[in-house]
Amino acid sequence: MTYALSAAKLQTYYRCPRAYYFRYERRIESAAFFGSAVLGTSLHQALAQIYQDWHYQDAIPRLDWIEYCWSQQTPSLTSNQINEGRSILSRYYQDFIANQSAMRKPLAVEGRIQGTLQAENLEFLLSGRYDRLDFLDDGLELIDYKSAKEVDYAEPDEIDLQIGLYYLALEQRYQRQLKRMSLLFLRTGEKISFEATPQHRQRVEEVICKLAVELRQDQRWPPFPSNQCDRCSYGRYCPAMRSDPEPMPEDTKPQQGLQLVLSI
Ligand code: SF4
Repeated sequence: MTYALSAAKLQTYYRCPRAYYFRYERRIESAAFFGSAVLGTSLHQALAQIYQDWHYQDAIPRLDWIEYCWSQQTPSLTSNQINEGRSILSRYYQDFIANQSAMRKPLAVEGRIQGTLQAENLEFLLSGRYDRLDFLDDGLELIDYKSAKEVDYAEPDEIDLQIGLYYLALEQRYQRQLKRMSLLFLRTGEKISFEATPQHRQRVEEVICKLAVELRQDQRWPPFPSNQCDRCSYGRYCPAMRSDPEPMPEDTKPQQGLQLVLSI
């Protein structure tokens, strides 16, 4: 049996093992995040279509191709959202397509990658999603579109973990190295790129080994208090926050037995 791990799970564990325990081992729901994700989803789908369905017989598409793709993704949007999305994609076209000599066909769009890693006799199934995967001359570039108004910038250590996880999974899937992970901020036209190296993979392997020891042996899940505690939904159950923490809710998932995560 394998233990599923995503970049988000790994980052949570790295930030605070106790929060990881509450969220993923005991499945206590955290405060729901209510935001309008509909526009972001439509933008991601339009961008996937722009690259996936283009015929690539001309060097670059005209703006009306972008507008056509957008028109295919708007049925559930308000007229304000449709206008906002159109102007975001026009900016994208100017910043990332019109100024290129040619639009290159990506290796894949809106995909999911998986890889595996063995640690402490546990098999971890690593999975992640990406918006676009481009060929470079010497490897791969993973593109992540950011469409939110309020961008939650991850800490550098957390970005490194995400890069390492993708590095590992892409190497297994394509036998090619991840050279870069790039964040494209659709509302500002900004692109931030991070170089990927074998050290990122090594770092991820180290953190996963620590998690494996926690699962197999320790089961201590130490709290790691920091300024994130102000936004943590689990403060009332957390021994680092209260000398007398509340008991976990009755419908909490039972403590997982070790045999459930052993590789067989
Ligand atoms: S309150 Fe702080 S220390 Fe406790 S679980 Fe949340 S993040 Fe971790």
